[in-house]
Amino acid sequence: MCMNKRILLIEDEKNIARFIELELSHEGFSVSTCFDGREGLQKALEENMKIDVILLDVMLPGLNGIEVCRRIRSHSQVPIILITARDAVMDRVAGLDAGADDYIVKPFAIEELLARIRSILRRTAAAPESRDLLKYKNITIDQAAYTAYVDEKMIELTKTEFDLLRLLIENKNRVCTRDHILERVWGYQSDVETNVVDVYIRHLRAKLPDSASTYIETVRGVGYVMRE
Ligand code: CA
Repeated sequence: MCMNKRILLIEDEKNIARFIELELSHEGFSVSTCFDGREGLQKALEENMKIDVILLDVMLPGLNGIEVCRRIRSHSQVPIILITARDAVMDRVAGLDAGADDYIVKPFAIEELLARIRSILRRTAAAPESRDLLKYKNITIDQAAYTAYVDEKMIELTKTEFDLLRLLIENKNRVCTRDHILERVWGYQSDVETNVVDVYIRHLRAKLPDSASTYIETVRGVGYVMRE
C-alpha cells in the first residue's frame, strides 16, 4: 500500500535523516530529504511535487519547523507530521496550532513513525469511498470532496478539523469523550495528550461562523457534543 507514496522529510540531523530515509524506502515509500527549513518549504510548495506526507522537524536552520508548517498550510492541505524534542510541549502545541496533523517525539521507534504515516494515509484514502453528504442544521459536509459548507459557503478546514467535524455530526446529540475523539480522528491508541482535542475544537470553532460554532458544546470534564 506504500508503493508510490511520496514522503518529504525535512530534518537537519543527517544521521537521523538518513536512517528515516532508509527505513521508509525499505517500506516502499519514495523519500525526498531537505536539511534546511527554507529549502523544505520551497520543495513542499513546488507544484510538480506530489507529496503524500511531510515529516517536519521543528528545530531547523533557515526557518524553524513551526513557521514552515504555517506557511505550507496557507497554500496546501498536505498531511504534516511534526518531529519534536521530548521536552518541547510548547512546540507541539504551537505545531498543532500552525496546522500540523500529528506529531512524533524524538527519540522514536521507526515502527511508531510508520504507524502514524499509515494512519494518515488511511484517512486520506478513505475519503473518496464515502460519497454521501452529511448535514446538521446549516452545516453540510461533502465526504467525497472533503469539503464543509455553512449556509452554502465553503469553509476551509484541514483534514483533521474536517474529520473532527464529521465525527461530531455523525454523533449529533451524543457526547463524544476526548478519548473517543482521539481514537476516531487520530486513528490509533497513542500517547497524544487529550488536550490536543481541545486545541482542535478551538480551531474548528474559530473557523466556523457563529451560526454554526455554537452547536459545538463543551461538556466539562468529558468531551464535546453537537447540539442546539
Ligand atoms: Ca533538528
